[in-house]
Amino acid sequence: MFKNPLVPAGLIATVGCLGGLILGSTFSGPHRTAVWAGRRVIAQDKLLSNIQIKIGTDGHIEAIGECLAEQSQVIHFRNTVLLPGFINAHSHAFHRFLRGRSEIGNTGADTFWKWRDNMYKLVEDVTYEQLKTFCKTTFDEMLMAGITTVGEFHYIHHGNGRFDLDEAVIDAAAASGIRLVLIETLYCRSGFAATDVLPEQRRFQANVNEFLAKIDVLEAHSKSNENVTIAVAAHSLRAVDRSSLQKLWNMTNQKKLAFHIHLEEQPKEVEDCIEVEGTRPSQFLRANLPINERLTAVHCTYTKREELDELAKAGVNICVCPTTEGKF
Ligand SMILES: [Zn+2]
Repeated sequence: MFKNPLVPAGLIATVGCLGGLILGSTFSGPHRTAVWAGRRVIAQDKLLSNIQIKIGTDGHIEAIGECLAEQSQVIHFRNTVLLPGFINAHSHAFHRFLRGRSEIGNTGADTFWKWRDNMYKLVEDVTYEQLKTFCKTTFDEMLMAGITTVGEFHYIHHGNGRFDLDEAVIDAAAASGIRLVLIETLYCRSGFAATDVLPEQRRFQANVNEFLAKIDVLEAHSKSNENVTIAVAAHSLRAVDRSSLQKLWNMTNQKKLAFHIHLEEQPKEVEDCIEVEGTRPSQFLRANLPINERLTAVHCTYTKREELDELAKAGVNICVCPTTEGKF
């Protein structure tokens, strides 16, 4: 069921490699043309031998073939497999800075909801500079691990100004050299029966109209930056009301943007949806949106098998996050 959660993120034009060498980060900025060869190359969905990769001055792969340059000009990575960079389809980069503040038994955050309180504390006074540091540190670690494209599910929008923290993520990705799919995330309310957010969620909140205007700005920005692609998300059904959800879906589907949402991550989310809406979140989603392959549902930990089948029939992508699903 896991297809391409970042559709339409485009091709990955970078190469990482096993054997201790990670080269993805070398692709930002101008380069000399280079031809690489590994003991094996994974390309075109195959494990190939005697294959070279030609990298152009703009950092993109120009050609993959057998004899692209004289042997003396080829950079050989011996006993190494060259493969496309990995994609991290669901990241909240600042969560890295919760390490050591959570999951420490009875005195720490031993449930999702207590973990969430710690997360709110981490960003309650966050500035552009702090968030940029959080993101850059994490993006640097991703590159070291061979991840060359990140889908950043970004919902902490407001620091000292409206949406100023969006720039922190974009600038952090540029500083790291990682390819960014900024999944701009709408967050309207604190729960299914709520009409407003909690005080600690103020940095996340936007109404759908101002949010859509911001999407236009971000899209214009990304047109001049090939390393940034814009996608959208509704944070979750508990955080976005039906009317805003439909408006966001309609407008961004017209633009052919990928659309993500956290879905059925927690039992409480399912219980609250049944209590307020009389239906499970996945059923609510199908009943209220003409879902299609542009939708990626993140988690689906508590989604029933028959509902997963219905999502699959509609072409929906499921993004599984094993380190989350395994904990709570
Ligand atoms: Zn998430």
